[in-house]
Amino acid sequence: MQAGYLNLTQTELDKRAQAAYDLYRDCTVCPHACQVDRTGDGRGVCGESDRLTVGASVQHFGEEPPFTGTRGVGNIFVTSCNMRCDYCQNFQISQEGQGNGYSYAQVAEQMLDLQAQGVHFIGWVSPSHVVPGLLKSLALARDKGLHLPIIYNSNGYDALPTLKLLENVIDIYLPDLKYAENDLAREYSHIKNYVDHSRSAIEEMHRQVGPLTLNESGQAERGLLIRHLVLPDNTAGTWETLCFIALELSTKVPVSLMSQYQPVHKAGKDSRIARRILAEEYEKALQMARDLGIETVFTQDLEDELHNLPDFRKSENPFPLGRAGLVESGK
Ligand code: SF4
Repeated sequence: MQAGYLNLTQTELDKRAQAAYDLYRDCTVCPHACQVDRTGDGRGVCGESDRLTVGASVQHFGEEPPFTGTRGVGNIFVTSCNMRCDYCQNFQISQEGQGNGYSYAQVAEQMLDLQAQGVHFIGWVSPSHVVPGLLKSLALARDKGLHLPIIYNSNGYDALPTLKLLENVIDIYLPDLKYAENDLAREYSHIKNYVDHSRSAIEEMHRQVGPLTLNESGQAERGLLIRHLVLPDNTAGTWETLCFIALELSTKVPVSLMSQYQPVHKAGKDSRIARRILAEEYEKALQMARDLGIETVFTQDLEDELHNLPDFRKSENPFPLGRAGLVESGK
């Protein structure tokens, strides 16, 4: 499949990357709008400069089957994040700074290396705070022969002006939709107005690419798939989140209902989220999706050993079990 960015001229892609880079000077790359100059000494909530820091760049088999296929996704796991989830399973890279700094040319080489390994897609994981750097790298990589479509795999806390620069560049949006109440997002992810920003962002993603479509062999072609991690005690607001997807977007947008929550990092300190979810809680979430008529739902086995945590200190292979944990419901 031809990546969308190949339909843009190299000049247009370079211009997009430069327009995004200019956002670093008074940073409004994500909804925090810290307005610091990341090209100099300024650092905002994400703590990053204009450099790219990457925790791992690997062939990954843990995404939904239309992405993973037989050869996996070439994921660039970006260091740092614009959210601070108490239960983040990637906390080593998202909150503890694990990773190495690279030039844009080096990250471009990482994408090309992954393409040479035969992956189906390049995945940008937690890209929201570094879109300008990734676009710069993409422009360099495309000039050297990168042709794989990009999966934009974000936490959903994305700024609209930044997303608009990605139109016809990103083929596949794979955002989380984590909460349905701003107060809970503030309490557990230390983020303001998550619900408003994430819903606006996902509406924009949907406008750009529509629901995920597959080719004849079941591989993803283009579109939006939303992930929702079911949290204990309905902390994630699953019913309201699924209602938003089904009623405000479309029942054709596929949803991954994830059961893999574990009380890692700081989550053990809060009694509400200090446990895994119960089988009844997960079954209830699946029933909600059925009741709302969501056409495609990806599910996880609650006991799947894939729920073992990644270890990003092993950057060459943080996911030792490495097989897909999400399957389409009923298949
Ligand atoms: S990308 Fe970082 S510096 Fe820029 S607005 Fe977001 S958190 Fe602040």
